[in-house]
Amino acid sequence: MDFKMEHGFIAQKYENNLERMLMIRYGELGLKGKNKSQFINRLIKNIQYALRNVTSKPVVSTWGRIMIPCDWNVNEIVDQLQKVFGIYSMSPVVKVDKDMEIIKETAWQVLQEAMQKGGTFKVESRRSDKTFPVISPEISKQVAEYIFDHCDESFEADMHDPENMLNIEVRDEGAYIYSEVITGAKGMPVGTGGKAVLMLSGGIDSPVAGFMTMKRGVVIEAVHFHSFPFTSERAKEKVIDHCRVLSRYANAPIKLHVVHFTEIQKAIHEKCSADYGITIMRRFMFRIAEKIAQKEHALAIVTGESVGQVASQTLESMVAINDVTKMPVLRPLVGFDKEEIMERAEKIGTYDISIRPYEDCCTVFLPPHPKIRPSIKESRRLEALLPVDELIEEALAKTEVLKISI
Ligand code: ATP
Ligand code: MG
Repeated sequence: MDFKMEHGFIAQKYENNLERMLMIRYGELGLKGKNKSQFINRLIKNIQYALRNVTSKPVVSTWGRIMIPCDWNVNEIVDQLQKVFGIYSMSPVVKVDKDMEIIKETAWQVLQEAMQKGGTFKVESRRSDKTFPVISPEISKQVAEYIFDHCDESFEADMHDPENMLNIEVRDEGAYIYSEVITGAKGMPVGTGGKAVLMLSGGIDSPVAGFMTMKRGVVIEAVHFHSFPFTSERAKEKVIDHCRVLSRYANAPIKLHVVHFTEIQKAIHEKCSADYGITIMRRFMFRIAEKIAQKEHALAIVTGESVGQVASQTLESMVAINDVTKMPVLRPLVGFDKEEIMERAEKIGTYDISIRPYEDCCTVFLPPHPKIRPSIKESRRLEALLPVDELIEEALAKTEVLKISI
């Protein structure tokens, strides 16, 4: 991150009431009434969780912004907050007394820091405290004059397309001065959109699907189907590590259900024709995911499928698999190319875990020629050969539940 702020010298110069804060803007403008207060309360809670090891200072909400007092650890705070959904952007601000002399001198210091990267600048002011005797254009004018009195020729103003903005906001409780605007994770605060169960395989796609779902405010619980000893403990470790990374975006620990899937896979392998192996295996996964979802009060199932990627992800396959559940199945990657998914995985921090060379349960029993267009009818016919309910009850009884956080 090219974000640098060294306000040390400002603090030394002005000890009178100067405060450094991080100003947080949140998006989703359409929110109103009860939804809005739920959104803000959840966002504050998530911010506090994300910062629990960084700062214990309270998060204060005023005039449609959330303010976090900070000292010299602003970079660290920003780093954590970039994983909090619902934050639109952030600005490190300096708050000073409403005194034109102090405002001018502080603004000059803030601009100098911003201009270290070069470029042009523009001063913009806002005055919501109408008792402040200097009107907005006049504040900008006086600050600009002060700057031109002190700067060298490398400082160039540009009224139309400046690289650096110097913002001054005069409010009831003080004057805020800032230049930098850092993009946030956007989306909705996790916890405002209900809960879903994420089928997490250890591969590249499903962690990204989890990320996308949380971005829209949905809490996720992960379900992993583990076929020990056909898949090693290290396959499970991968999924645990994925949950660790995802928990940073959840702003909470993630609950992981590890389902013992071996008996089911063996039964399918023994009794059903190989070309339907994957379809039937997936039908079992969906049934179990649905049962866990119901128990945990989750309303949907999320998968990392996209259309047409592999044999089991044709629309026909989806129809045959979806047959076993009435729950909505969210597939947030449906329109993504593999390359786009990989890029996203790298950005989130799950990619390196995904490519560790441990087998997943699908590859162990992978048939040489999976059915590309399986039918519901044939799936049902083959399954009738198996004690479906019994197998599911057994697998659920052996399910291990872990709570994972960073
Ligand atoms: P991924 O990269 O997420 O493994 P994939 O492209 O390999 O996806 P498939 O192996 O066909 O696709 O799996 C499709 C989806 O089914 C996965 O994205 C995941 O949501 C779910 N899934 C597959 N295997 C497992 C498993 N062992 N445990 C939990 N979910 C699984
Ligand atoms: Mg996979």
